[in-house]
Amino acid sequence: MPLVKPQSEGLVDFIPGARLEALLRRAPADAAEVRDVLAKSLAKQRLSLEEMGALLSVSDPALLAAMFEAARTLKKTVYGNRIVLFAPLYIGNKCVNSCKYCGFRAENPENLRRTLAPAEIRAELTALENTGHKRLILVFGEHADYDADFIAECVRTCYAHKVGFGEIRRVNINAAPLDVAGYRKLKAAGIGTYQIFQESYHRPTYEQVHPRGPKADFLWRLHGLDRAQEGGCDDVGIGALFGLHDWRFEALGLLAHTIHLEERFNVGPHTISFPRLKVASNIDLDRSWELADADFKRLIAILRLAVPYTGMILTAREPAALRRELLEFGCSQIDAGTRIELGGYSEGDPELQDLRREQFKIGDSRPLDQVVGELLDLGEIPSYCTACYRQGRTGEHFMEFAIPGFIKRFCTPNALLTLKEYLTDYASPAVRAKGEALIAAELAKLPAGEAKQQLLERLAAIEQGRRDLFF
Ligand code: SAM
Ligand code: SF4
Repeated sequence: MPLVKPQSEGLVDFIPGARLEALLRRAPADAAEVRDVLAKSLAKQRLSLEEMGALLSVSDPALLAAMFEAARTLKKTVYGNRIVLFAPLYIGNKCVNSCKYCGFRAENPENLRRTLAPAEIRAELTALENTGHKRLILVFGEHADYDADFIAECVRTCYAHKVGFGEIRRVNINAAPLDVAGYRKLKAAGIGTYQIFQESYHRPTYEQVHPRGPKADFLWRLHGLDRAQEGGCDDVGIGALFGLHDWRFEALGLLAHTIHLEERFNVGPHTISFPRLKVASNIDLDRSWELADADFKRLIAILRLAVPYTGMILTAREPAALRRELLEFGCSQIDAGTRIELGGYSEGDPELQDLRREQFKIGDSRPLDQVVGELLDLGEIPSYCTACYRQGRTGEHFMEFAIPGFIKRFCTPNALLTLKEYLTDYASPAVRAKGEALIAAELAKLPAGEAKQQLLERLAAIEQGRRDLFF
């Protein structure tokens, strides 16, 4: 259906396309320029478009190595050795849009359409909680059935569902852009991050891959997170789908979007996602912009350097070995034990992916316990922490807390407390042993004092059956 009257009438395009194109044509940065930009990143300052342009221009192996090293250092100093774990939960795949890359698009006759009923959502929650998940992202197609009231009801269903010690403590959303009144309803239901991926910031590409439906309206989507902020959702996530256009342009687009949100709302996005285009049911796309692994690694390092305080999400679209390698360059959140078929956690065969029931093919379907075990082997603390959101430390206020000292005092202890819960309630014996060893090693790093004493008391309380303790 052609778009009759764009909902976006009067909205301004804040992506400076011509300026971004010019930055991609610039001469390669020399060592001195790269050094200056890296010094700014390491001082934890957000980069400008020009500074990101300098990093994107680098191909000299020695300078690239310096960039990777700086990204690794920055990740350690801002986030410590924590990786936050979550799971996606697909609620419904009806969709009125025609995104050429997506298995859920309206014209795909092979896709099996389904919306989970409340009892089916609860069955999924039981399966998720029984493996230890505490944080979800609910995913929806775009359809009149999935309005703000429906999404809010799904959120409430998630928070209300408990199995033993299992419960969901944070529900994020990835769905179509709403109007301000819609976001207010979701805020009232207690949502965490509202994610909208712009897919492509390059307008001709955007228009080409979104030929019909409400999503064809570039500006309505581009302003989707402004409306979220206006509706009180101060915790938003941006993203681009890599493989549709030049990755360097999209990286600049993500930064331009970040700068816009910072300027307008005094706070940038809480997270950035960078999904790569994957095989999907019945899609036939031009693959000329496919993002190679080596460039994907550059992209992740450059994003880390450009936005030091923004969470970066690396999903199970990517294969396990690559995820392992990419973690250290800046990712702070991953999904694990992921199933993306509708009903996949409670009904699916974990070995089998059925493309007709899912949006695209994932690369890492290992069970949660295996991923936790691998993180522990890498010296990372798997974390389910949700303390900041539940203490009101979000949006503008979250930035205040993302300061040196806060991680040691709050984030690491909270990560250890949630890890302890996981080990006590859900881990296999081998993972439990690894996890207890890591907790002991982290405790040994803490100086004696009140903070350490409080942490020790809370860890002991978890062994006695207390749950959900945080600083
Ligand atoms: N329907 C909502 C929308 O389009 O905003 C929800 C998002 S969709 C269910 C989640 C995201 O998956 C999309 O925004 C897109 O970036 C990504 N995606 C879609 N098709 C994909 C594919 N073939 N490979 C990888 N990611 C894909
Ligand atoms: Fe629908 Fe979202 Fe898929 Fe587009 S990406 S077809 S809007 S589910």
